[in-house]
Amino acid sequence: MLSASEISSLRGFTSNDQVPVVSLYLNVDGSRYPTRADYETELSYLISQARKSAATKLGLSRDQQTRLDSDLSSIGEYVNLEFQRNGTRALVIFACRAEGLWQVSPLKIQVENSLYVDWKPQVAPLVENLSAYSHICVMLTNKETARIFSVYAGEITERTEILDQVLKHHEQGGWEQSKLQRRHGLQVRNHLKKACDATMEYFKKEGFERLVAGVSDELWPELERVLHPYLNQRLLGRFPVDINAPADEVLAKVAELEEQKRQREESSLLESLGPELNSGRIYAGGLDDVLAVLNQRRVDLLLVENGYAEPGKRCPACNTLEFGEEVCPVCGGAAEHIGDVVEEAKELAVRQDATVMTVPPGHPAITRAGHIAARLRY
Ligand SMILES: [Zn+2]
Repeated sequence: MLSASEISSLRGFTSNDQVPVVSLYLNVDGSRYPTRADYETELSYLISQARKSAATKLGLSRDQQTRLDSDLSSIGEYVNLEFQRNGTRALVIFACRAEGLWQVSPLKIQVENSLYVDWKPQVAPLVENLSAYSHICVMLTNKETARIFSVYAGEITERTEILDQVLKHHEQGGWEQSKLQRRHGLQVRNHLKKACDATMEYFKKEGFERLVAGVSDELWPELERVLHPYLNQRLLGRFPVDINAPADEVLAKVAELEEQKRQREESSLLESLGPELNSGRIYAGGLDDVLAVLNQRRVDLLLVENGYAEPGKRCPACNTLEFGEEVCPVCGGAAEHIGDVVEEAKELAVRQDATVMTVPPGHPAITRAGHIAARLRY
C-alpha cells in the first residue's frame, strides 16, 4: 500500500524535462487475467505503444529515448521475472531511474491498464482509486466473543491485540466478577461494553473514518445502547454474521456496504448537479469551461463521464490546458497538441487537491453538462 507521504512525494517529483518518467498501471486481477501470460501480453502491448508514441509526443532526444527504453525494459523484466501476483489485483510502477525513481507497488484495488510517459509521474489514476477507500474498523460480536478488523483499500487485517489490551486492563474489575454473575443479561452488557471500549481505544490510537458492526439483529439494539456517540457517527452499516466467519467473508460484506454507500452518494450528487449547473454559480460544465476553472486552480470536485476523451492542447510555456483556443489564453504562446486533454484535466485536478469522480456513461445530468463538470471552491 502506498502511504499518503509516498503519494505526495510522487506528486512533487519532476525530472525538469530532462528524463521521461514512466507510470504504469497494470491490472493483474486473477478473475480478469487467469494466467501470467494474459497480463504479460497486455504489458508488452502497452510498452510497444509507449515506445512508438512517446518520442513524438515529448520530442525526445536520442539520449532521452535511450533512457526511456531502458526504463521500459526494466519494467518488462521485473514483471516477467520477479513479480509474484499472490492475490494482488494491480501493479503500479513509477520509473525514472536516471533521477533515482523506481517505485513498485502491488495493490489490492482495481485499475485500468495504462502506461504514461511524461516529465512527471501520472498519479491521478492512483489517487482517484484510493480516494474511493476509507479506513474502516469492523467489530464482530456475539454475546460472549468479539473480534476487531481493520479494512483499507481492499485489504483486511484482524486486530486481536486491541481486545487483549482492553481485557487485561479490566482484569481487576468487572470481568471476573461478571463471569461469576448468574445474571446473563448483565454479562452480555459487560461484554458488549468491553468490545465497544476496545473499538474506542483503537479509534483514539489510530483513527478510522468508518465503523461497521457485524452483529445479529437481536443483539444490535443492545450494542447500539453502549456504543460511544463518536463511533455511532461513523457507522457505515451493519450485517449479521457468524462470529467465526473467515476474514474474506467479512471483507466481502464490508465491500458491499461501501458500494451501496458510493452509489447513494453518487446519485445524490448527480441529482443536485442538474439544478446547480443551471444556476451556474457553483458548477462549471463542458470541457472549455471546466479547463478554464482548472487552469485557475478553483476546482474542488471533478466529475467525468467514464470513457470520455478528447484531443486538446497544452501550452508548453505555462502548462495551461486548452480545448477550443488556438493560442494560450494566459501567455499567448503557441499550444501543442495532446492526445487526450481529459486525462490531463484529471491530473491537474488531483494536483489542486480536488476529488476526481468517474460517472457511468448515460447519466442525464452529466450528459447535459457535456460529459464533464467541475464544482468550484469559490
Ligand atoms: Zn501559456
